[in-house]
Amino acid sequence: MDLDFTPQQQAMRTEVRGWLRDNVPQAPLASYDTREGFEQHRAWEARLAGAGYSSVTWPKELGGRGCDLIEWLIFEEEYHAVDAPMRVNQNGILLLGPTMLEFGTAEQKARFLPRTARCDDMWAQGWSEPNAGSDMAAIASRAIRDGNDYVINGQKTWSTRALFANWMFGLFRSDPESTRHHGLTYLLVPLDAVGITIRPIKTLNGKQAFAEVFFDDVRVSVANRIGEEGQGWHVAMATAGFERGLLLRSPARFQRTAKRLVELYRRHQATADRDPSIRDGVLKAWMDAEAYNLASYHTVSQLLKGHRLGAEASTNKIFWSELDLQMHETAMRILGSRAELIDDPEVHDWLEGFLFAQAGPIYAGSNEIQRNIIAERVLGLPKS
Ligand SMILES: Cc1cc2nc3c(=O)[nH]c(=O)nc-3n(C[C@H](O)[C@H](O)[C@H](O)COP(=O)(O)OP(=O)(O)OC[C@H]3O[C@@H](n4cnc5c(N)ncnc54)[C@H](O)[C@@H]3O)c2cc1C
Repeated sequence: MDLDFTPQQQAMRTEVRGWLRDNVPQAPLASYDTREGFEQHRAWEARLAGAGYSSVTWPKELGGRGCDLIEWLIFEEEYHAVDAPMRVNQNGILLLGPTMLEFGTAEQKARFLPRTARCDDMWAQGWSEPNAGSDMAAIASRAIRDGNDYVINGQKTWSTRALFANWMFGLFRSDPESTRHHGLTYLLVPLDAVGITIRPIKTLNGKQAFAEVFFDDVRVSVANRIGEEGQGWHVAMATAGFERGLLLRSPARFQRTAKRLVELYRRHQATADRDPSIRDGVLKAWMDAEAYNLASYHTVSQLLKGHRLGAEASTNKIFWSELDLQMHETAMRILGSRAELIDDPEVHDWLEGFLFAQAGPIYAGSNEIQRNIIAERVLGLPKS
């Protein structure tokens, strides 16, 4: 086993580091859950795209940099090490992009991917409905074929950044007689289409990070369908494991949080050490972030050898979401009674992060559902 980086990988790291040093905004951007912050982040992404860094693993001709997954991990390490802005178009770049690369037509790739890489198009994800969350196969919103269009009626909910995005990808029931995961179709819907109503939903931190989206006889061209009619479940699931198992949360993000946690602990060591379990929490956070990093390199090595990610991706999703919670809870304990003072500069990011960490065990498939998947598909246990 060779754990060293190749000269080519080291050169790439040096190049990325230099570019980020010269380009990362000096002052933090406003929250992307506000109109102003969304536009600031979009402008930053466009700058990244200019250097091919917004979607490094995509082919160069489609707006990416043609990197492999090891180079993607290196890019992420450099990106998080300098606290570069959070990525606002993750839906488009991490979820839709790989799906389109696998299932899209050449026309669809050329039409959508370069615009998405530049963040000319910003994407919301339309899976969840009021009665279809964990049980996604219960999707009831309909898309019925009428000539060269589908006509959509129904409702999506919890759609992250749908308030500001201009496109949504989603699953809709195209066969009204179908049940469960049959008869669903994967469609790309412009959010300014006639018949769409978008209502904001506030999250725990008071920002409008989500929206519910209503469809009332919305017409969408057949050209906006990814994969075959009725095969939407297969298309959506093909990339879900990749999302949970690797792309959505790179290890560098948690290594950066662990480093900040150690720094916080050192600044408050005298008081923090009155409770030895706090120091244990800091150590555990550090070790788990390193373990997650090594596990990710292992996963990537397997993928580069041609393996595919299976149900074990669920273990990963549980691990990073619980690690994030544990790190932020430890930070809250170090900050003590000050931890609720959102305007305190030392507290602000930890408290925001703590609130967001509560959602980790829910989004991208709740951790209870991931445990069901592990029990049934990895361990082969009976359903009941
Ligand atoms: C921050 C955040 C961002 C999100 N962004 C999006 C988005 O952009 N697009 C989108 O479509 N959705 C999005 N979601 C929605 C998310 O996918 C759902 O919240 C999630 O799938 C759970 O569905 P639900 O909320 O309907 O809860 P439910 O499915 O009603 O579940 C409620 C509870 O019951 C548990 N449960 C349910 N079924 C089982 C079972 N069979 N066994 C054991 N336990 C079970 C769940 O784990 C959960 O704890 C987001 C959610 C969050 C928190």
